[in-house]
Amino acid sequence: MTKEIKIDDNLIIGGEKFSIIAGPCAVESEEQMQYIAQFLNQLGIKIIRGGAFKPRTNPNSFQGLGFDGLKILKDIKDSYGFKVISEIMDPRDIEDAYRYVDIYQIGSRNMQNYSLLREIGKTDKPVLLKRGMSATINEWIKASEYISIEGNDKIILCERGIRTFENYTRNTLDLMSVPIMKSETKYPVLIDPSHGTGRRELVLPASKAALAIGADGLIIEIHPEPDKALSDGHQSLNFNEFKILVNKIKSMKKSLNIY
Ligand code: PEP
Ligand code: MN
Repeated sequence: MTKEIKIDDNLIIGGEKFSIIAGPCAVESEEQMQYIAQFLNQLGIKIIRGGAFKPRTNPNSFQGLGFDGLKILKDIKDSYGFKVISEIMDPRDIEDAYRYVDIYQIGSRNMQNYSLLREIGKTDKPVLLKRGMSATINEWIKASEYISIEGNDKIILCERGIRTFENYTRNTLDLMSVPIMKSETKYPVLIDPSHGTGRRELVLPASKAALAIGADGLIIEIHPEPDKALSDGHQSLNFNEFKILVNKIKSMKKSLNIY
């Protein structure tokens, strides 16, 4: 059975569970996060995502709010009881970020940042390791070993799509990595259908496929007004679209009866 990653005494990722994590690509403001938090809380979502350090291709694009963003996440966490996941890019930030996040995210661009992997491996917090956009399965497995070799075995893998010749979608979502990683490692595997497709209208079909192929959950970008998002708006769902997705996935899970 897939390893259960304990997020706290009452919350796990892996095992028999199918987890849905959601939130904006980037933390943009206190108001934005309050609004999103209220909505996700009503839907029963337990883990909220939001980037404070954004790895943008263009250095002139919005880079995230940094520690101010993490503080906003911590406020949300304290007032609603959410667990928080956020990306850390610089090994020097790991220690200071420790008290703000419940799960460290290692982004696609940093999957082979071995000093970052080793430093996070020295902590005792769960870590979501995204697949590098050009990484083979084997490179991804080895990256996870850089974390576990330092003592941290609380690893959650996340397939977020790889670069191929196809450019209709932002990435090609390699769903086959789910059964492969689940047999090659003991760790849960989440699917990120937002980065995996780069297109809002493909997030639901990709999520259904993720459930059917045995993934342990989803991490999805949402925004109250996707067209105004400071990053990744075109792949973010609005509240209504996300609500439909959650309901569809829940009923599909019941009828599939495979878990
Ligand atoms: C993100 O989750 O917003 C992100 C930057 O993802 P990735 O590292 O997969 O590109
Ligand atoms: Mn994003």
